[in-house]
Amino acid sequence: MPYLLLALALALGVVAISIMRAARFISNRMRLIEDGREIGPARTIADRMVCAFLLDAGAGAHVLIDAGMDTQAKAILAELGRRGLGPEAIKAIFLTHAHTDHFGGCALFPQADVYALEAEVDLAEGRRKQGGLLGPLAGLQRRTVHITQALAAGEEVVVGDLRIRALPMPGHTLGSAAYVCNGVVFMGDSADARIDGRIQEPPALLSEDSGAARTSLATLADRIRELDSPIEWLAFAHSGVLRAEALFRPPGGAASHAPSKI
Ligand SMILES: [Zn+2]
Repeated sequence: MPYLLLALALALGVVAISIMRAARFISNRMRLIEDGREIGPARTIADRMVCAFLLDAGAGAHVLIDAGMDTQAKAILAELGRRGLGPEAIKAIFLTHAHTDHFGGCALFPQADVYALEAEVDLAEGRRKQGGLLGPLAGLQRRTVHITQALAAGEEVVVGDLRIRALPMPGHTLGSAAYVCNGVVFMGDSADARIDGRIQEPPALLSEDSGAARTSLATLADRIRELDSPIEWLAFAHSGVLRAEALFRPPGGAASHAPSKI
């Protein structure tokens, strides 16, 4: 009987989160994710309501930014198959954060290094409970993922032809990261893309610290400028892509000054 109640609670939790996400997309007019879109070095791989990104690192080696929610990683394996490759082609997986819809496919790539910011490791490996309003609910369906490589703030990793830099984006989770690679900023759930071309802050209900999330987003443009490498695209896990200029407009507000270079 307790198992039945637990299963019921789990099912209700999944339904509640799905409804909230759907309501958010409708009310804020979020962009829809696009499967198979090429942006910079990456191709979007839609996995129901979330995107993973597949990057070609040269010589058959590939990198994933997040690994989708499907524990069988069918969409990722299908795209590798289309390239004549198997799961061993994935050499590294960079997790934007440790929510289950972002690391579902990791187990299918046991030879890959799994990267996340140091601040996210305890949540990923189940030593810390998720905070925020929905933390207790998320705890009910908690799966874990082993992080083989913990990243320091601002650390750059070279995989084949690619250089991937981790920028801390605390807020949605305390150890959330954005990754910068070849003109693309992979945002994870640290923001969403609206139909009107603006950035939307992550919803407070789904974030561990919404104040920190707001600050992370507000400071990202300056932190990217400091890298002194041109940025062309912003890639969001649940809402498609935007041109990088969107980073220089206030979220959901009036346009501010345009940058001369980013
Ligand atoms: Zn998330």
